[in-house]
Amino acid sequence: AFEVLVVGGGPAGASAAIYAARKGIRTGLVAERFGGQVLDTMAIENFISVPHTEGPKLAAHLESHVGEYDVDVMNLQRADALVPAPYEGGLHELRLANGAKLRARTVILTTGARWRTMNVPGEDQYRNKGVAYCPHCDGPLFKGKRVAVIGGGNSGVEAAIDLAGIVAHVTLIEYDSQLRADAVLQRKLASLPNVKVITSALTTEVHGDGVKVTSLSYKDRNSDQLHALELEGIFVQIGLVPNTEWLRDTVALTPRGEIEIDHRGETSRLGIFAAGDATTEPYKQIVVAMGAGSTAALSAFDYLIRLPAE
Ligand code: FAD
Repeated sequence: AFEVLVVGGGPAGASAAIYAARKGIRTGLVAERFGGQVLDTMAIENFISVPHTEGPKLAAHLESHVGEYDVDVMNLQRADALVPAPYEGGLHELRLANGAKLRARTVILTTGARWRTMNVPGEDQYRNKGVAYCPHCDGPLFKGKRVAVIGGGNSGVEAAIDLAGIVAHVTLIEYDSQLRADAVLQRKLASLPNVKVITSALTTEVHGDGVKVTSLSYKDRNSDQLHALELEGIFVQIGLVPNTEWLRDTVALTPRGEIEIDHRGETSRLGIFAAGDATTEPYKQIVVAMGAGSTAALSAFDYLIRLPAE
């Protein structure tokens, strides 16, 4: 059995595995796709002390750093159930989609999240070529340009306020007849001179010149008329979905599916920890996920050394 079994191979999982292995305890890591969201990222300019890198490069570094330690890495394996230990200090059982069962004294959940996409023509083709999902990450790339934010919930309105300070102009597009963000955010948004809000609008297509985004089309849901908006960037803010569907009966999740953790990375179950985008951590960023992964691993170690000797 493992002393620490990490589920997920993104920044949080890699960090948790390294911190655990450095304690000299038996560590395993199961990942559906080692690298996680980082693999889908182009330029990364906020990974502190590395002014510029690219997703696939950082993912390769994560993998080689983990490889320097005695970590049993099981890549391309999906976990589909976790059975918590029957008693405190007992073994948890992780079941994989391939039928294998792994047992571990502590488990660290770092399965990350995925951005909800618009599912319209052009979105995939121009992803990272104008279509973006993370304003903290990609906002500065659009300095002085025109962008749209899709989605008028809290994250969409926050993104629009954030981007308005960087870009030339922001158009916020909301499907509903009104914004759904908190009133204080809406007031702030309304005070900004370079933001326009369009409600009752359905984005129908992303257009580009083959290399980058040039415009988007939306349908006015009241008149059914199609409109075009010329711009350089589109920030899709219609939800970040945690990869936790398989944990619904195991650990406490928020209504949005985030694993509830405390400041030590402890979940509602003894001996089960979590870190990164899959959790209630409010900021979904690489440096934050790495820090959280190390916190969870150190908490797991603290838990292990307090267990009575068998
Ligand atoms: P993830 O990176 O999502 O990793 C989750 C891991 O869990 C993966 O290995 C996945 O395969 C695995 N997994 C999921 N479910 C299972 C399962 N059931 N069984 C086994 N394994 C499973 N952040 C920045 O700081 N700077 C940036 O510039 C930046 N740009 C971004 C650009 C894009 C396009 C995207 C999508 C994100 C960007 N982010 C950026 C956000 C950053 O990538 C995430 O905050 C970070 O990757 C979260 O790390 P994580 O380890 O929590 O989760």
